[in-house]
Amino acid sequence: MAGMFEQICEMGHEQVVHCHDSETGLRAIIGIHDTTLGPALGGTRLWAYSSEEEAVRDVLRLSRGMTFKAACAGLPLGGGKAVIIADPQMKSEKLFRAYGRFVNSLGGRYITAEDVNISVSDMDAVRKETRYATGVSAEYGGSGNPGPVTAFGVYQGMKAAVQSHTGTDSLKGLKIAVQGTGSVGERLCQLVHEEGASLVVADVNESRAAQVAQRFGALVVAPDEIHRAEVDVFAPCALGASLNDKTIPELKAKIVAGAANNQLAEEDRHAKMLAEKGVLYCPDYVINAGGLINVYNEIIGYDRDRAMAQAKKIFTTTSQILKKSLETGLTTQQAAMDLATERVAAGRSGRVLSTLDKSPLATLKS
Ligand code: NAD
Repeated sequence: MAGMFEQICEMGHEQVVHCHDSETGLRAIIGIHDTTLGPALGGTRLWAYSSEEEAVRDVLRLSRGMTFKAACAGLPLGGGKAVIIADPQMKSEKLFRAYGRFVNSLGGRYITAEDVNISVSDMDAVRKETRYATGVSAEYGGSGNPGPVTAFGVYQGMKAAVQSHTGTDSLKGLKIAVQGTGSVGERLCQLVHEEGASLVVADVNESRAAQVAQRFGALVVAPDEIHRAEVDVFAPCALGASLNDKTIPELKAKIVAGAANNQLAEEDRHAKMLAEKGVLYCPDYVINAGGLINVYNEIIGYDRDRAMAQAKKIFTTTSQILKKSLETGLTTQQAAMDLATERVAAGRSGRVLSTLDKSPLATLKS
């Protein structure tokens, strides 16, 4: 495996912080990828990694993805992410408070939030030690579940893709398959149902799928069959890597637009496979940015209408990316990456970006 500097130079990270607290046994790694556009914001994942190398790989890959997500969303934020190497059974308030002190020591270069295995109450414990924690409960000025804002953004991205394919953004009469009917998936089902689309759904949690089927008249299929449903749009809203060597050849949908992070098992190769098959892929980090938009609004003083208005812009951003992909022959994934890279480069050269809003750091420090 490549050395740390080799890896961070290749991926462009600014800083990687290893945190250790002997009293609680905390072992955490904070990855700050790029702070050109603003403080690095991204969740903390708690996972029983089988090796330190695996944890490092995860934090580097995830923090880099956050730079692209924030830049495409036009937010004044950089990309960061953190991992805590621990068994989820070992969670404790002391552990999170120790972690919070490390986050605080970075003075706002990194702002954290929830990710896998971290709950709102865990984040509240972090918040006791630092202002640089979001996704907290109402007691600390939190905004609650970001799922509905994320679903609304995915819905906007989906409509943009449908428009690019059919000339109209209406979902009426379309068939849409939703993989994973959790917080985001269920709300997405509601939005597309209200617009007159019919639904096919799957969830490993059978009662969740059944509930959605009952509410929106959806057809339930097995989790390992949902990707090959005869539909117009496939929306992965469960876990990552759902677009891979096995599933891509079996896809029937002409559009993929969903919430799950890291849908492509291999970024470049699978983006190309989809393009060659004539499937329009909406890059996940572009259309699932509603959660990040929500957290950003929490920092600057929460306003639900403003958060929804910003999430609505995902329609325009997606349209821009799809158009560029059509004009240049680049995959949609590469076109999105180019947009993010251009925005970061513009920020680096000191140009003011019209999409950028109020600095979150100024708010937190005031
Ligand atoms: P969730 O845990 O509420 O829902 C995920 C659902 O997927 C669960 O019901 C689970 O049972 C189901 N599932 C798991 N494996 C499955 C499989 N193989 N087949 C079918 N169903 C399966 O999570 P969520 O908050 O709805 O997030 C969904 C995805 O979107 C995740 O990948 C998440 O990282 C991503 N995302 C979420 C947000 C947000 O605001 N919640 C923001 C950005 C990205």
